[in-house]
Amino acid sequence: MPEIQDDLEFKCPACGETVIEELIEGALVRNQLVYLSPEGDHDYDMNPIIEGGSIKEYRCAKCLKAIPCEPNAQALADWLLDQEEALQDEKEKEEVKSE
Ligand SMILES: [Zn+2]
Repeated sequence: MPEIQDDLEFKCPACGETVIEELIEGALVRNQLVYLSPEGDHDYDMNPIIEGGSIKEYRCAKCLKAIPCEPNAQALADWLLDQEEALQDEKEKEEVKSE
């Protein structure tokens, strides 16, 4: 989960959620088996190690709507900045109207 800085605020256009989820494809997950019964019941450690893979997309953690940017952190940051600017422009237009 990327740590989003204050000036890179995400707000899902569809549902308003503020958490971004990274979808990784083709990764290998290593998980320590911490419990196994003779019946085959089993449990894993809560902190799996994820190796390799590549980011497929960023999306809203709640409604899973994909963020329309290239799948890399720089593109995500740029997209968030663009959103911020678009929002500012909207606000400025509103202010002009009300004057
Ligand atoms: Zn959403």
